[in-house]
Amino acid sequence: MTSDKPRHTTTGAGIPVSSDEHSLSVGPDGPIVLHDHFLMEQMAAFNREMIPDRQPHAKGSGAFGHFEVTHDVSKYTKAKFLKKGTKTDVLIRFSTVAGEGGSPDTWRDPRGFAVKFYTEEGNFDMVGNNTPVFFVRDPMKFQHFIHSQKRRADNGLRDHDMQWDFWTLVPESAHQVAWLMGDRGVPATWRHMNGYSSHTYMWVNDEGERFWVKYHFKTDQGIKCMTQEQADQMAGSDADYHRRDLFEAIKRGEYPTWTLQMQIMPFEDAKTYRYNPFDLTKVWPHSDYPLMEVGKLTLNENPTDFHSQINQAAFEPNNMVPGTGLSPDKMLLARSISYADAHRARLGVNYKHIPVNTPKCPVNSYTQGGAMRMHHATDPVYAPNSKGGPKADGERFPEDAVWATSGEFVRTAYTLRKDDDDWSQPHTLVREVMDDAARDRLVSNVVGHLSGGVTEPVLERAFEYWRNIDQEVGERIEKGVRGN
Ligand code: NDP
Repeated sequence: MTSDKPRHTTTGAGIPVSSDEHSLSVGPDGPIVLHDHFLMEQMAAFNREMIPDRQPHAKGSGAFGHFEVTHDVSKYTKAKFLKKGTKTDVLIRFSTVAGEGGSPDTWRDPRGFAVKFYTEEGNFDMVGNNTPVFFVRDPMKFQHFIHSQKRRADNGLRDHDMQWDFWTLVPESAHQVAWLMGDRGVPATWRHMNGYSSHTYMWVNDEGERFWVKYHFKTDQGIKCMTQEQADQMAGSDADYHRRDLFEAIKRGEYPTWTLQMQIMPFEDAKTYRYNPFDLTKVWPHSDYPLMEVGKLTLNENPTDFHSQINQAAFEPNNMVPGTGLSPDKMLLARSISYADAHRARLGVNYKHIPVNTPKCPVNSYTQGGAMRMHHATDPVYAPNSKGGPKADGERFPEDAVWATSGEFVRTAYTLRKDDDDWSQPHTLVREVMDDAARDRLVSNVVGHLSGGVTEPVLERAFEYWRNIDQEVGERIEKGVRGN
C-alpha cells in the first residue's frame, strides 16, 4: 500500500496502537502487564515466522514471467497453453538441493528448476533440475540418497565419506555424479544454466495419439559455470550470490530467457528403444531424438514478498493439464504423490489457497474445510447431485494420458534392455562431451572432493567407480588422491 499520508501502526486486527517502542507496564519501572496483547501479538508472531525448510531444495529464490509458444506442436499435444501464440504467466523457483535455507548458493550441487504455468486449464508444474538425469532410478532409494548428502546424525556435519559410500554402492548414480563433478556442477548464475524435466512425460494430441516427451529449457544467456576455486570464494563472500544476481538482473531490466525445446518419442518406440526410456539416470541421445523448438520463457518480475511468493510456492509434478501426463518412470510416479504430501506437511492442507499457488482459472472442487481455508464452500457439497453443482466431463476431458501394463506385484529393478548399463552414458559425457580442459577440471574437482575426508574402503571403491566410467580418468583420480 503506498500513500503520501503518514500511516499509523495497528495491531493485526487494524486497531491503532500508541507505541512501537514501549510495552505496557505498571509505572515506568514496574512489571509488564499480562494484558498487553499488542506486545504478545508481536512476540507470538515472531516466534512463528519461520516455517519448515523444504526437505530438500531448501535454499532458493525465483521470479515471475511468461511463456510464449512460438512453434506449432499441436500434432503432439492438445494442451491449450502449448498452442502456438499462447502466452501463459509463469513462476520459476531455482534452488540448490542439499543445503539448508541459509547455505551458500555456490556449493557444488544440482540446481532445482521448478516452473509453474498458470494455464487456463489449471496449473501445470514442471519440477525439473539443471541436469537431464538423476542419481537414482527407484524412489525407495531417494530418502537414503538425500540423507547421505545432508548431515551426519552424531556431529551434524556434512560428510564426503558418506556421500561417496552411497554413490559407490549405487552405480546408477555414476551419470549424475560425473555431471555434478564437471563444470556444470556449479553454474555461474541461475540465468546461465539450462533446465530439464529430466523425467519422461506424456503428451496427447486431439486425436488421442500419445507421445513420450522430455522438456529442455535452454538458457539464452549461454552456459556459464564457476570453477571450484571461484565457487569456494563466492561461498565465503556472498552466500546469496545466485539469489542476488537474479533479483538485480530483473531489476535492471535484463530479463533472462530460456528456449523450450522438446525431445519427442512416438508412443510405440518406447517398447523397443535400446534404453529404457523411463530410466531417470539416462538421457535420450539427441541423435536419436533431436530437440524441437516450442517457445520462449521470460522472467521479468521480481517477487515483492519473498515469504509468501517464493517460500510458500508449492510445485507438484502431478499438476498435469489436459494434453499432458506422467510416464512409467518410477521416480516420477513417486514424486507425483510425495510433493503434494510435502506441501501439506510444510504449508498445511490448504496450501493451494496461498495466492502464489492459486490457479488463474475457476476452481470447482468439492474439497472443503481444513485449517486456513480461504474459499467459501458452496452448496451442493456432494456429487453426484441434481442441484446444479459442477459435473466431471469425461467426454471433454478424457483420462487419456495413460498406458497399459500387467504383471505380478514385484519389488525389483527395471528389466534391462540391450544398451542399459550404468557406465556408458557417463563415459560418453566424460570422454566425448568434455574436452581435455573440462576433463582436467573434472579430475581436479573429484580429487579435491575425495581428499576431503573419504576413508577406506570407500576410497578404493571410488577409484573403481571412476575407472568404470573412464579408465584413464579413474587412474588420474587415484594418482591425484594417493599422491603418487
Ligand atoms: P550431444 O553431443 O548431442 O549433446 C551433448 C550435451 O551435453 C549437450 O546438450 C550439451 O549441452 C551438454 N554438455 C556440454 N558440456 C557439458 C558438461 N560439461 N556437462 C554436462 N553436459 C554438458 O550428445 P548426446 O545427446 O548423445 O549425449 C551425450 C552425453 O551428453 C550424455 O550421455 C549426457 O551425459 C550429456 N547430455 C545429454 C543431454 C541429452 O538430453 N541428450 C542433455 C545434456 C547433457 P548444451 O548444448 O546446452 O551446451
